[in-house]
Formats: sequence, structure tokens, C-alpha cells
Amino acid sequence: MQKTLTILKPDTIGAGRAGAVIASIEEAGFRIRAVRMLHLTRGQAEGFYAVHRERPFFGDLVAFMTEGPVIVMVLEADDAVSKLRELMGATDPAKAENGTIRKRFATNIERNAIHGSDAPETAAVEIAYFFNRLEMV
Ligand code: GDP
Repeated sequence: MQKTLTILKPDTIGAGRAGAVIASIEEAGFRIRAVRMLHLTRGQAEGFYAVHRERPFFGDLVAFMTEGPVIVMVLEADDAVSKLRELMGATDPAKAENGTIRKRFATNIERNAIHGSDAPETAAVEIAYFFNRLEMV
């Protein structure tokens, strides 16, 4: 079993679609091992997306991620990292496969509903960014 980190982004929470997205995650076979709702500060969002610091969209991305609350979860499944990326669909919802979360719930390449770790090593770092051992079941 492998763990990955997901964030239901502020667009998903704002649209009242958190339940629908969590349902599709559970229906796909993931177990929720930790969950937390929070409103990211600018510093927390910048730290989480530090790898994108030099990208032209960084300021917009941080503004988006701090505009309202998010739900952060640790998910577990076989091949959780790649399985979640598949369920999420492409970064740009216009390019996402039918049935994926981004095709169903995202607005555009920025307001794209959900984050999922891109590799097991990244997942370990991202999980530790939000949760300690005692917060995971
Ligand atoms: P992901 O792994 O599919 O989430 O994509 P990336 O790691 O490349 O980008 C991180 C996040 O930055 C994406 O999920 C989007 O919210 C945002 N993003 C990515 N590319 C763009 C872009 O070209 N323009 C804008 N405005 N936001 C972007």
C-alpha cells in the first residue's frame, strides 16, 4: 500500500463539491487516512508550491490557493500516487479525460479542483508538510 497527499482546492470547497469529489475518490478504492480543513496562509501556500516559485503563474496560484478553505487528505491505495493522478486527469481540464475529477469539476488550468502528489518521494514530503504521525490512522 502506498500513500499520497491530496488537496481539495478552494474552488471545489467554494462550489460545494467537496462531498462529490471525496465520493469519487472513495469509489475509486482509496482509503482516507487523515483529513484536515484549513485556510492556507500566503506563507503556507508559497511553501507548499515552492518548486513553482519561478513560474509566471506563481503569484496567481498562491492567491487562488489562499482565497478560501481547502481540505487536505492522506489517501492510501495500491499505487496511490499514479492512481490518483489518473483519477484527477490532466492539469488543464480541457485536456483531461472524460470521467476524471478535473474534467468534471475544474474550471481552467489554474482553478483545477484538486492537487495530487506527483511521485512517492514528493508525497512523503507533502504529507509531512501537513500531518504528523499521530494524525494518521
Ligand atoms: P499538477 O501537478 O497537475 O497540479 O500541475 P503543476 O504541478 O504543473 O502545477 C501546480 C498547479 O499550478 C496546478 O494544479 C494549477 O493549479 C496551477 N497551474 C499550472 N499550470 C498553470 C498555468 O499555466 N497557469 C496558471 N494560472 N496556473 C497553472
